[in-house]
Amino acid sequence: MASNFLGYFSNDIGIDLGTANTLVYVKDKGIVLREPSVVAIDTVTRKVRAVGADAKRMLGRTPGNITAIRPMKDGVIADFDVTEAMLRYFIDKVRANSFVPPRVVIAIPSGITAVEKRAVMDSAVHAGARKVITIPEPMAAAIGVGLPIDEPAANMIVDIGGGTTEIAIISLSGMVICKSIRVAGDELDTAIVNYMKRAYNLMIGERTAEEIKIRVGSAYPLDEELTMEVKGRDSVAGLPKTIHITSQEIREALSDPISAIVDIVRATLEQCPPELSADLVDRGFVMAGGGALIRGIDRLLSDKTGLPVTVADDPLSAVANGTGIFLNEINWVLQNV
Ligand code: ADP
Ligand code: MG
Repeated sequence: MASNFLGYFSNDIGIDLGTANTLVYVKDKGIVLREPSVVAIDTVTRKVRAVGADAKRMLGRTPGNITAIRPMKDGVIADFDVTEAMLRYFIDKVRANSFVPPRVVIAIPSGITAVEKRAVMDSAVHAGARKVITIPEPMAAAIGVGLPIDEPAANMIVDIGGGTTEIAIISLSGMVICKSIRVAGDELDTAIVNYMKRAYNLMIGERTAEEIKIRVGSAYPLDEELTMEVKGRDSVAGLPKTIHITSQEIREALSDPISAIVDIVRATLEQCPPELSADLVDRGFVMAGGGALIRGIDRLLSDKTGLPVTVADDPLSAVANGTGIFLNEINWVLQNV
């Protein structure tokens, strides 16, 4: 009873604790916050200098006494204190005028260990949550894109985030198969950094590589190929330099990590029980996460699997929207936390 009473006043929230971006969904309001999962720390005092977009701007541009950290970078928690500081900052930001501590649903990478999961839950409690439950990220993504996961049929989701690609086949609200690899958006950025160094002796930062990926990156030949001007530092002369690149060469640069993603999708399908495989022939799978926006990735995956592939309407919001739908359905009293 007490719990229901407090529930009436509190803002229940859903958090997509992503490797690249954290989104917060407030019940009855929708997504109210989306910021990079980055924290800038003073290396001497260990104080937090900035969180989110402000901290991301500092990546690669920090003086010796500040370091910008992505605590969830590889889908595992690199630094618990920093993760907690980040969660606290985001929770404080959205609960400004609510006097009752919120109940929180957190979507976490599926590859996380039980110890890390516990640590995230503890962090959320320290950060001001009254009750916390977690939901695996691919499950939240599947709910968020509107798949009928409670049916006795295969619902498949491929979520390409920053640090990890997560794939799940869900039936009767349970994950029948779930796979996660540490090849996703960040690996694509690294492949571009390496290519620029190899082909042009041009040193570029991660942020520039990401911009190249978003502006001209692709996984399948484009009807009209694109070009872009790139600035960086010449590794031989040591001076700033500008070059011109094409989408063909960037596609070539991205081919290894893209192949790794194709391989894991195929490996998942190979392990699928036959009845569910049969469902997938017609139903295909849905793509979510920022990586689903790489030009032609849906077409490539459809070619390589023979299945229909759909990209979610708003792939970057799928997981957060899934936590939001979950918030409406959850019976907190039955949750033993
Ligand atoms: P996470 O859930 O791991 O936080 P997101 O789903 O937020 O990750 O996706 C972030 C990744 O998507 C980053 O690597 C980013 O560069 C990439 N991304 C975002 N928009 C695009 C785009 N238009 N084209 C290609 N990649 C994109
Ligand atoms: Mg994600």
